[in-house]
Amino acid sequence: MEYLTLGLVLSKERGKEADSNLRVYTRDFGGVAAISRSLGKITSKLSGHLLPGKLVSVRLVERNNGGWQAVDALSVGSLPATAETLKFLDFLEKVIPFNEPDRGVWEKVEKIVGQGKVEKADYVDILDVLGLGGSLAKCVSCGGSVAYFLPKDVIFICHKCLARSFSPEDEAIDI
Ligand SMILES: [Zn+2]
Repeated sequence: MEYLTLGLVLSKERGKEADSNLRVYTRDFGGVAAISRSLGKITSKLSGHLLPGKLVSVRLVERNNGGWQAVDALSVGSLPATAETLKFLDFLEKVIPFNEPDRGVWEKVEKIVGQGKVEKADYVDILDVLGLGGSLAKCVSCGGSVAYFLPKDVIFICHKCLARSFSPEDEAIDI
């Protein structure tokens, strides 16, 4: 089966030979893991489109192993290639459900790409839509006002408790 959907490319890693392993947050399937054949070749016409931060119209084919293959893609928007964007994409990859669409989260993602930058409130909004309690959250340790979200552990924490904990601050999302 072949599907055409919209998706935000979250990450891209080199796979076997010239293939690439992609993570894409799609409108119709939620997060998906997809391979793209020969993306590493200079002549690949997809390589300029399937980059982290690009919003793409993407054609996906289901593979026998349950994964996906991206067979065509055209970028229709993008977030700037900045450290802030990469942090946001990493955050999304950690919190969004894979293989389960969520129209609310998708609308937020489209809005963020449309505004061309990620704002602090966007993290809280997405966590709220996912039911992780972005605006209601209290520090998991002391119950105080939240300053950070730790995607790895899916917990909220205040500045004081983060400073006391062992988690390196670069893994914490400043909210
Ligand atoms: Zn605290």
